[in-house]
Amino acid sequence: MSSSSMSRLKRANQQQVTRYFYEHGSATKQELEATLGLSLPTITQHLHELENSGIIAMTGLNDSTGGRRAQRYAFASRVRIAIGASIRRHQVTCCAVDLHGSTIASSTQGIALNASDPSYYQEIDAVISNFAHGIQSNEHQILGVAFAIQGLVSADGQRITFGNIMGDTGVTIEQLAGDIGYPSTMIHDSDASAMAELWFDRTINDATLLYLERRIGGAVIMGGALYRGRGLTSGTVEHMTLVPHGRLCYCGHRGCVDPYCSPETLMHRGESMEHAFVTIHQAQHHRDRTDSVSRLREFNRWLDHIASTITNMRMVIASDVILGGEASRFLNEDDMQILKHNVLAHSPFADSFTLKRSLCIPNQGIVGAALRLISPYVKALCGEAHG
Ligand SMILES: [Zn+2]
Repeated sequence: MSSSSMSRLKRANQQQVTRYFYEHGSATKQELEATLGLSLPTITQHLHELENSGIIAMTGLNDSTGGRRAQRYAFASRVRIAIGASIRRHQVTCCAVDLHGSTIASSTQGIALNASDPSYYQEIDAVISNFAHGIQSNEHQILGVAFAIQGLVSADGQRITFGNIMGDTGVTIEQLAGDIGYPSTMIHDSDASAMAELWFDRTINDATLLYLERRIGGAVIMGGALYRGRGLTSGTVEHMTLVPHGRLCYCGHRGCVDPYCSPETLMHRGESMEHAFVTIHQAQHHRDRTDSVSRLREFNRWLDHIASTITNMRMVIASDVILGGEASRFLNEDDMQILKHNVLAHSPFADSFTLKRSLCIPNQGIVGAALRLISPYVKALCGEAHG
């Protein structure tokens, strides 16, 4: 065997051992020998190397079943972490995510948006650096910082190409993260949420995603991977025309999905989103009350706009649909049924599909952004089957 095939084989074996640890959490030499079909000396060598690089650590001895008790090793999920961050109008949120995608720390700090002031970005950098120092146990632990951006970003993740919501079109990663001192990248927040969806639910193959955040978002998953398309604009359903010449959208055009499907249209003056939905669901139980009638009319119109949007999405990609975002958490089972019924009623075909709610994990978009850095690292560590 040539030396290059020897080293390829060694790498494949090491990935196999690492993958076992990654999937099972812990193992003994004997368990690895029995499951992986590798010799004990080979396993011993890999364990030694993995332990030296901090990827696994001894956790103690197995319970005795007669004879010598076996040493157990465990995967060190926190040997590398990535930081996900999001910048909103009034605050910056950071999450530290380990190699399994678990959030090990998070922090939100109030900073008012001021995209035209360079010191605004310095303030953000200081918040993220402090957060990183607070969790870091050695300098190599942090893979980098990934920003979930409320807008579109360039293919290399270095520049915001469409940032009408925050007024930050053209802002570069240099401006945003110049002082952080870690490798940094940006990702569209809807795509980041979809990445988290895929990471935590490996059964998804094809799906279109609609995020009912205050600013609507969407994403497309095809063949078990995020489909971003040319210009990375796939899934931007928020700017699909729903009502020609209709309400003004923040993109500058009229009649887009966003001004009709945003849950803000349901929130009366001074109301939180949760309160708006509580009031709507109470109105469903007191339909005869005069204030219920107008409230339900608004809600049904909103559901109808969402149903039309889903119908349009499904005319192009006839997949299952995942509904996410803050407002999706407040929809009850009856609302979901009505929505699905309305979508099917709009469809000219005898069709069936699954409409399900997103996993809605806390800070999903921020965790998804961090996974953009975690995923290739895990893939290199464990081989192609992972990440
Ligand atoms: Zn628009």
